[in-house]
Amino acid sequence: MTEHISVIGGGLAGLTAAIACAESGSTVTLYEAHRTLGGRARSTTAPYVANDGPHVFYSDGEPFQWLDRRGLARPFTRLTLRALARSRFRHGDRLRPVPPASLLRMLTRRRLSAPVDQSFAAWAEHRFGAEAASAAAGLAGILTYTDAGRLSATFVWDRLLRVTAPRWPAVRYLTGGWTALIGRMADHARSLGVKIEVEARVDRLPAPPVIVATSLDAARTLLGDESLRWESGRAALLDLGLRGRRDDLFVVSDLDEGGFLERYSLVDPSLAPPGHTLVQGQMPMRAGESLADAVARLERVADLGLPGWRDRVLWRREAAARQRTGALDLPGHTWRDRPAIDRGDGVWLVGDSVAAPGLLGEVSITSALTAAKSATRRPTLSRAR
Ligand SMILES: Cc1cc2nc3c(=O)[nH]c(=O)nc-3n(C[C@H](O)[C@H](O)[C@H](O)COP(=O)(O)OP(=O)(O)OC[C@H]3O[C@@H](n4cnc5c(N)ncnc54)[C@H](O)[C@@H]3O)c2cc1C
Repeated sequence: MTEHISVIGGGLAGLTAAIACAESGSTVTLYEAHRTLGGRARSTTAPYVANDGPHVFYSDGEPFQWLDRRGLARPFTRLTLRALARSRFRHGDRLRPVPPASLLRMLTRRRLSAPVDQSFAAWAEHRFGAEAASAAAGLAGILTYTDAGRLSATFVWDRLLRVTAPRWPAVRYLTGGWTALIGRMADHARSLGVKIEVEARVDRLPAPPVIVATSLDAARTLLGDESLRWESGRAALLDLGLRGRRDDLFVVSDLDEGGFLERYSLVDPSLAPPGHTLVQGQMPMRAGESLADAVARLERVADLGLPGWRDRVLWRREAAARQRTGALDLPGHTWRDRPAIDRGDGVWLVGDSVAAPGLLGEVSITSALTAAKSATRRPTLSRAR
């Protein structure tokens, strides 16, 4: 007898869960409230294809490999030598080709493990000194979308070690933006028989088995469970479509303030018209800081990396990302303490803020695979519809 599984939410997590359940032989209906699939993994339409949420994948992680085995992660581009040569670090409000020696020394201590209970700032300063600690927290801004110094030392240190591993960076840029990936995932799901309903907001839980793949905020309402909360980032976002200039940098990693600026059209020219450039930036927001003030600090980074950019703007948007950049573990907590995936009675909760390991959107995919495995292995509760 075939099990019917309902999946609520059509972002990375929901589409992954739907595909995995269908591959295991279940019939699946996926409900997405929005007119288009993708959730935070959507991109704007041409001429400037800017990602709303995720920018890069790390190919050393199982989530990327799961997609790649199904032919869903390609085409992608890798970091090129040309791009690396056009990358700089902001330190002491000056651009430098390499980070300070104290940070490099810190990153050679790859066997060191960091404590869960201490903040990264306190641990790193004690072990490596104030300069290395603050520069490392700045470097981790792109992985955390917040002041990384306030997070658990384990959380930040493990991520820094992963992305600075001494090999060619595993970072992958999905050609055409993340919307392209979502399109391929949806096509694949449909080819496996998944019924996808868009503009189909679910207000009451359908009969189990059901996989809830919404943000934690939406799941709180849907499951009527006020305890479904977890820490996430808060950052100002600035996207720019510019007339191109040869001396524009590719990346500015802002070790002073945790900001980050990346010219994605350098590695994927399909993101902007010929001769134009697409830049996306982020700046962690300070407590009580307005979006305008945080954007102004990000513009300072742009002043350093994109000469004369203010006179070249053809398209611009800004936004604040609050509670939507993925789970962050505060001192004393690990991913195991986050809201559980198995809610009991044939209900699973997946997404980027639940109890699963990984970096940013990887948590959505890993949790969806865990839930799908569990949902498709349990004794049958409902018949195929
Ligand atoms: C600025 C920014 C940068 C990021 N950078 C990266 C990065 O570089 N790499 C990375 O891996 N990750 C990154 N992330 C994180 C990544 O975007 C998310 O982890 C991932 O997209 C979350 O996917 P999801 O499916 O779990 O949730 P969502 O994308 O939020 O999907 C949930 C879906 O559920 C739908 N929904 C909600 N309520 C209902 C309902 N009642 N009924 C039906 N449908 C409903 C929503 O419309 C939505 O489509 C970034 C995020 C942001 C904001």
